[in-house]
Amino acid sequence: MYNHRTLKLITDIDHLPPALAASISPEERAYIEGIAARGGLPFAVTPHFASLAGPEKDDPIRRQFMPDPQEAQGDPFALEDPLGEACHRVAPRLIHQYQNRALLKTTALCGGFCRFCFRRVWVAEEAPFISAAELEPVQDYLKVHPEIREILLSGGDPLRASDERLEWLFQELRAARPGLQTAGPRLPKADSALSLRICTRLPITAPDRITPELIGLLSRFSPLRAAVHINHSRELSPESRRALSAIAEAGIPVLVQTVLLKGINDDAETLLTLFRECRNLGLIPYYLFQLDLAPGTAHFRLPLKQGLALYRKLQILGTEPENNSSSVPLLPGNLVPAYAVDLPGGGGKIRLSKKSIAGETVLPAGRAYLLKDKDGKLWPYPVD
Ligand SMILES: *Cc1c(COP(=O)(O)O)cnc(C)c1O
Repeated sequence: MYNHRTLKLITDIDHLPPALAASISPEERAYIEGIAARGGLPFAVTPHFASLAGPEKDDPIRRQFMPDPQEAQGDPFALEDPLGEACHRVAPRLIHQYQNRALLKTTALCGGFCRFCFRRVWVAEEAPFISAAELEPVQDYLKVHPEIREILLSGGDPLRASDERLEWLFQELRAARPGLQTAGPRLPKADSALSLRICTRLPITAPDRITPELIGLLSRFSPLRAAVHINHSRELSPESRRALSAIAEAGIPVLVQTVLLKGINDDAETLLTLFRECRNLGLIPYYLFQLDLAPGTAHFRLPLKQGLALYRKLQILGTEPENNSSSVPLLPGNLVPAYAVDLPGGGGKIRLSKKSIAGETVLPAGRAYLLKDKDGKLWPYPVD
């Protein structure tokens, strides 16, 4: 039976697959050995994800988990709390930023530490799942905020918890809404049930976690969908493909969130291959995120203007007429997700287009665009 100890992370570079361990340069080793002393984001990767990486320094999988000395370079724009979650926190683990949906940080455990993680201050190698005492204020809040229709279960990675813990959490959340049906053979009424969204990367980093029992559990708690973080088609191993299509085939909608990463997926062909393969597996490309301003991640940031140009290209190339030779394209399959950014400091998500840029300014940190939120308020985002 799966529990949080079942997944063994590699936390020592000498325990990586031999070719990968041998690829670590003296500079990388020195940097990695100093992370703990500096209080930086630790090194951790699942054996599965490590097995997908090549030994080259610019390998798109290796770069996502291998600590890089460039992380130590200062970034004057960096924010400890890049999304400004503190401004929207309504209970210790609950963030309510948008009217009808809220986000719950269920655990600080994750399936490895992505080097561009924006929750780098939150995630941890050892941490308990949300407790009954911590859930109580969340339930109290949900009771008096019926406008919340969906709750995002985030982390860390909620699927690090056992099926039993997850079932308990789902039941408790649904129970917070009096009159609503909890788990059972009958589906809750679609217009009244609190919808659940499981935000996870384990189908990619640890596809073994996606057991038939877990899929059965998720199916019993409809309305529920999954949001899976996938950045490159190389992440779609045969095991991950099986796991993802099993979720989709169970009738659970699977959204895909991709982070735009310089040198990893910042070209049209790489992204379109990813989106096409996701679509072929029955998944829904949902967001392409411009990078958040977390400390130590500037070397992953594609300048916004380049991101916008790339997105333009995706939109032109990514609208595929379905296989039909008639002149009227039936059901054009738009593969391209929304390009979005979380406005640094708590402005929320906006869709990015040329029109998002209202101006440019010079701040003590450097040159910045002024991005317009839905209310017309301006938020700075670095030019470079
Ligand atoms: C991203 C996010 C959501 C969900 O937004 P969608 O646009 O529905 O994906 C909800 N709450 C918070 C705090 C978020 O960051």
